[in-house]
Amino acid sequence: MINLKDVLKDAQTIGISGHVHPDGDCIGATLGLYNYIKDNYPMKNVRLFLEEIPDVFNFLHRSEEIVHGTTDDAFDLYFVMDCSDELRLGDYAKHLQNTTHTVCVDHHKSNKLDTEYAYVVPDASSTSELVYNLLPKEAVTKEIAECLYTGIVHDTGVFQYSCTAKSTMEAAGFFMEKGIDYSSIVERTYFEKTFAQNRILARAVLRANLWHDGEIIISYLTREEMAEFDATPQDLDGIVNQLRITKGVEVAVFLYETGDGEFKASLRSKSRVDVSEIALKFGGGGHLRAAGATMKGEAEEILTMLLPEITKRLEKGND
Ligand code: AMP
Ligand code: MN
Ligand code: MN
Repeated sequence: MINLKDVLKDAQTIGISGHVHPDGDCIGATLGLYNYIKDNYPMKNVRLFLEEIPDVFNFLHRSEEIVHGTTDDAFDLYFVMDCSDELRLGDYAKHLQNTTHTVCVDHHKSNKLDTEYAYVVPDASSTSELVYNLLPKEAVTKEIAECLYTGIVHDTGVFQYSCTAKSTMEAAGFFMEKGIDYSSIVERTYFEKTFAQNRILARAVLRANLWHDGEIIISYLTREEMAEFDATPQDLDGIVNQLRITKGVEVAVFLYETGDGEFKASLRSKSRVDVSEIALKFGGGGHLRAAGATMKGEAEEILTMLLPEITKRLEKGND
């Protein structure tokens, strides 16, 4: 584990960023760390860089200070959070060229970053739980607790996935004691959907097909459909989880078109298949039970590429 106090000691200009299309964990972990540095090191110049975040996270403390563009400024210290490689850092990867010391805090099995300091725990529920481990407990305010609780809730599917450990529940209990409105965080940031989100979810579920005796479920949406429902990629978060809970399913795949002949694939599994291995094969990455990749081809072609890889692993698991 790294010692945050030592790492921060001599740094005056600090940058923090996370992966493209930031999710609840990425937003919670980066804002939790940002708030801690702002609260405790007011003389340091710290900036948080993330792509646009979904509106549901706007209640998190200092989220309005997030910088969306890049800078040519140099940094003494740069934190790369919840991100497994430079490509996933998007435009912010260029900040690393201008940085003296780099730190990575992450829980991706597929982490390939080579930073000076690294706190990478593939078994950890979330990067937010790792940030909790790094912070002095007396410095965790209610606002920081809200950020980190949100992050944990999103990466554990509200404490449901097998990445949830005793330490995860203990961290969550600690945050509850800070007076956070935990049920409202779950309701407003995780479960609540707009009417448009619900309708496009319905379209994806209707499109879905089962394979391999109902152990694999796959669905996709095209750009035309996303336009028809006035949906952004952010509106599609959660579709793959809805597919995954189908009775009898072990592996769920959801694809959405990102460009001409290009789809983003989200993969989830319940208990036997390591989907990060499959995602890695197609240039992506992730965790044991949740992974993703950007894939070339039409939906049917991508399906033809993915199915044998999934089937192979299901049959190996059945031995
Ligand atoms: P998603 O399906 O986008 O929710 O992603 C599931 C998990 O896989 C997340 O932890 C992502 O960080 C990771 N992931 C998604 N897409 C990629 C990718 N192209 N490369 C590496 N990791 C990815
Ligand atoms: Mn993430
Ligand atoms: Mn994460």
